[in-house]
Amino acid sequence: MAAGIFGILDKIQKRGFEVEALNYPMEVYLDETFCLEKWLLSHKADYYLVGLHWFVHARGAYEVINRIRNSNSEAIIIVGGITASLFHELLMRDFKSIDYIIDGDGEEPIPMLVEALESKKDIDNIANLVYRKENKIIKSERKYILNNFEGFEYSNYSFLKNKEHYAEFSYPGIILEEKSLWLVNGRGCIYNCIGCGAARRARLGETYYCKEALICRNVDDVIQDIYNLRSFELDYIKLTHDFSSMGEKYYEEFFSRYKALSIETKIYNEFWQIPSEDFINKCTENGLSGRLDCTITAFTGDESMRKKLGKVFTNTELIECLNLCLDAHFTVKLYFSRFLPDENAISLLQTFKLIQTILNLDKSTQLIQIFYEGYLADPCSIMLEDVMLEDNYDIYINWESKNNGKVFQKMVHSLDGKSQLIDKKIINLLK
Ligand code: SF4
Repeated sequence: MAAGIFGILDKIQKRGFEVEALNYPMEVYLDETFCLEKWLLSHKADYYLVGLHWFVHARGAYEVINRIRNSNSEAIIIVGGITASLFHELLMRDFKSIDYIIDGDGEEPIPMLVEALESKKDIDNIANLVYRKENKIIKSERKYILNNFEGFEYSNYSFLKNKEHYAEFSYPGIILEEKSLWLVNGRGCIYNCIGCGAARRARLGETYYCKEALICRNVDDVIQDIYNLRSFELDYIKLTHDFSSMGEKYYEEFFSRYKALSIETKIYNEFWQIPSEDFINKCTENGLSGRLDCTITAFTGDESMRKKLGKVFTNTELIECLNLCLDAHFTVKLYFSRFLPDENAISLLQTFKLIQTILNLDKSTQLIQIFYEGYLADPCSIMLEDVMLEDNYDIYINWESKNNGKVFQKMVHSLDGKSQLIDKKIINLLK
């Protein structure tokens, strides 16, 4: 589930509504006989919120929406999230089961909508709302962009069915031997990775981010949530936003407050670039040596290609940074990507050479894990800015770009065929 939804549900609950939340894939994983229709029939509600956030979950979201409608013809179905926002017109046009879409941030509009519907008040003034009126699709002229996190709590899981298992599912489709939860600590991004739908200059950033592009959540509130979540006995707390990019003052305060908590939980952080020497030093000075799990995306060993993709560090800087991480006993997940735009034999060789250097570096410690996965660009990213949903929503990966044809479908759908080709290329190169 998108981590931000917990703040919205908490707000609705605090306004006096009874809230229940269900993570359908988790339920099926816990009990393969779980029947969504049966559950919906025994937990009838007046309003249903369905998250359509990351586009790869689109097909699942459509399926859930249809099942809600089939089980409750009177249900009011509200859909929100990044993908729902970007494609609100198409979704409203083609999915008659959806009653309302929140186009943008939902923190204020969703509770306001539910309250207005409950008291039968006019909804025309609710910001970010897309709805139907007299067979026309109407979009509210009022815009709401979250510009601070005051009063939001993200550690309230009281409404989630089987909440005691939720921490075992921090990545979709991957069951890790760990307990971890994602925690909101910001919104937006200051960088411009060309394949990322959440980049500052991508359509999402330009339309839905506040002027500064990144808002940081108050350290006190983040720490309070971490404290509240201690009953889950987490191995990791996973921050949604790279706190090393939030400035020296922010991370210094975070480290000292975290140290004062005296808990064993480690911190997981996905760095937008690479951590600075100062960040690593401040972390260890606060006694957090060995308590940070870092994710770094290098994409390739080809520096100019990496820069074009949005990561602006050199191979030398990466290796220096990894050495500092190893000295600090941090674990590192380092990501490289295959099928990159403009990838060729030379860039592949540069990548393998860099991977080899890093493997040698880490021989004795084994703290670095290297991933080499297919590159996946988001629709409406800078690279695929004109990619739209096609009419056939059953195949959620069937997107089309006027400039690039079916490039996106190829990237997702034909990975198998293409990967064999690249594997052959790699084998020949290694020989
Ligand atoms: S991939 Fe790049 S643009 Fe996207 S959120 Fe991460 S750092 Fe920001």
